[in-house]
Amino acid sequence: MQKANNLKEYKRELGEALDNDFLRKAMDKFAVAYRSARINAFKGHEEEVLIHEVVRVKDAGIDNMMALYEEFKTRAQAAGVHVHLARTAHEANELIANIARKNACKKIIKSKSMTAEETLLNHHLEPEFEVTETDLGEWIIQLRHEGPTHMVMPAIHLSRHQVADLFADVTAREQKPDIQRLVKVARRELRAKFTQADMGISGANVAIAKTGTLGIVTNEGNARLVTTLPRVHVALVGLDKLCASLQDALTILRVLPRNATGQAITSYVTWITGANQCLARGTEKNKKEMHIVFLDNGRTQLARDPLFKQVLRCVRCGACANVCPVYRMVGGHQMGHVYIGAIGLILTYFFHGRDKAKNLVQNCINCEACKHVCAAGIDLPRLIKEIHTRIQDEEGHPLTSVLLGKVLKNRKLFHTLLRTAKAAQRPITGGTRYLSHLPQIFARDQDFRALPAIAKKPFRDMWKDVRPPKPAHPKFKVALFSGCVQDFVYPEQLEAGIKVLAHHGVDLDFPMGQTCCGLPVQMMGEKQAARDVALQNVTAIDPADYDYILTLCASCASHLKNNYPFLVGDEPIVGVKVQQFSDKVMSFSSFVNDILQVTREEFNPSGRTATFHSPCHLCRGMGVVHAPHELIEKSGYRFVRADEEQVCCGFGGTYTSKFPQVSQQILNNKLDDVEKTGAELLLTECPGCVLQLRGGMETRGSRVQVLHIAEALARAKK
Ligand code: SF4
Ligand code: SF4
Repeated sequence: MQKANNLKEYKRELGEALDNDFLRKAMDKFAVAYRSARINAFKGHEEEVLIHEVVRVKDAGIDNMMALYEEFKTRAQAAGVHVHLARTAHEANELIANIARKNACKKIIKSKSMTAEETLLNHHLEPEFEVTETDLGEWIIQLRHEGPTHMVMPAIHLSRHQVADLFADVTAREQKPDIQRLVKVARRELRAKFTQADMGISGANVAIAKTGTLGIVTNEGNARLVTTLPRVHVALVGLDKLCASLQDALTILRVLPRNATGQAITSYVTWITGANQCLARGTEKNKKEMHIVFLDNGRTQLARDPLFKQVLRCVRCGACANVCPVYRMVGGHQMGHVYIGAIGLILTYFFHGRDKAKNLVQNCINCEACKHVCAAGIDLPRLIKEIHTRIQDEEGHPLTSVLLGKVLKNRKLFHTLLRTAKAAQRPITGGTRYLSHLPQIFARDQDFRALPAIAKKPFRDMWKDVRPPKPAHPKFKVALFSGCVQDFVYPEQLEAGIKVLAHHGVDLDFPMGQTCCGLPVQMMGEKQAARDVALQNVTAIDPADYDYILTLCASCASHLKNNYPFLVGDEPIVGVKVQQFSDKVMSFSSFVNDILQVTREEFNPSGRTATFHSPCHLCRGMGVVHAPHELIEKSGYRFVRADEEQVCCGFGGTYTSKFPQVSQQILNNKLDDVEKTGAELLLTECPGCVLQLRGGMETRGSRVQVLHIAEALARAKK
């Protein structure tokens, strides 16, 4: 859970998590294993179709939430169940406590429920009742008085040694750190709790309105004992779990276990319709007393929010954490509050308030890995950025991001500052292309990779000299969008790109009114500045004049293509053009491979081995995966694929300066993975990734040379 009061404290907590070797190794191992388990689980199924079906079912549930609630209530009451609606977390907790009091319950057993974590139910009940969690992981964290670090595997952050010590305390006997033995200890201790309990509390994964049925999926079977053995059963269920029919519920269950744990189906799927038979002591007419408490806690209000209602689709599979590079480094206590991972960053704001969310929402590198695997098709990175902006609008924007926004909005001022910085950097470059003696005030925590110097001449000043002659019979009229890093730091990447395009009938233009794409300010929560910058670019490059808008920067490409319509689509005049603008944006490798269709004959094969780092915004943002591989092979390099080719490099624009410790650790993992391939060259397609990877290899003293793919192609071109 989040205890940090400010960003400084939060960063200290992140540092502690990064120093925890066991946590990092456990997370690493899990991330790698999860990736292949998920691929196998979806084999033979059309993943996108299944997810699309979940979206359909969940959206219908959200749009008809209260009607489904009324239908469920009627059916469940007819089957002898007491149905309640709690408006707030406190109301839900008090309702449950009252049910326990009214039924003279003293001992309560619980099966795993994220909704109960959300309401902090245990904290509410424990002063008055004996409450025992019965899911192994949940029991462990209950004994440690901490929250879950993963929605599906709450104790994944703990070693068997830590668990053995904990169980030794509980049983007052020495325990060996042997997993099978520890499971037996837990089973023995919990068995007595099951038989003595007066009341069982569960959650539910789905609530079927048509029949008043709850569906619960588990792997340990403890939910069956919790819901059947005690004489009173209370289920705490979010209103978002309602769906119309069994068919809808099965649609969700086809995806949930596959996405959560890579299982086609969990060990237990339990369906409960009405209060069942129960022979436990104190029951009247052999029937148990059953209550279902539906929790609102802001859900009905969220359901009315056109942008954020999609978060109610979440099926709590935890996949967005499983693939998150930041979660992989720091774990769920730092990458969440109660709910963790990408969805946790968003739900924390709505369920637990701005104070708990304000540090968390800044800790997203915008890699889009979560969006790519979400079982419910939620646009998580966009919503995280929206929350960041909302919080800054509510609390005031930090001076640094306001200043950056003001500078980026003023292209002439921005470029003048960069030109001034070029002159000022002379004493600290030592004649190299790196800032080798950067003053401590700028270099704090940034020395894990060498930083590049600003180029002698920006690309825009070189354009008149390097502009290719207009072809006699142009096939394509193309606007080149440079982005600021290639314009001012790596103009040679653009020069290389021009060389590759030569003799393909490309009439290339470089509109001078273009400026930074605006992604850095969007990342800092400066939405208005991002919008102003987008307007400048759409005005500077009239899409009607070009067949394509080409960029060699994957981050720019993805931002121009995917975010511009959201940012300025509602503008009266430019808004009409923006969709046309975005539709024409194309990444370099797609253009060269798929549109120009370059051939092997154009290149001299070197036979050197090359691997590829796929920028997040290329493989996920632009959906480009195969074009770079094909180009590497066509141009005569021997391609070796890295295991983690599509895992983020840790740059993330402004992220690397805000959270350098996390960025460094993600980079280290990436460089290890690259070096494992034995490749001589590491190619990529984003100047930000080049900056991070080249700087990291330089600092390591590695023999691996890092190049933009355009540079590798230009070197091989005949
Ligand atoms: S965008 Fe990447 S860093 Fe951000 S929450 Fe999603 S997976 Fe994590
Ligand atoms: S947001 Fe998506 S991936 Fe994350 S827990 Fe919810 S359904 Fe799963």
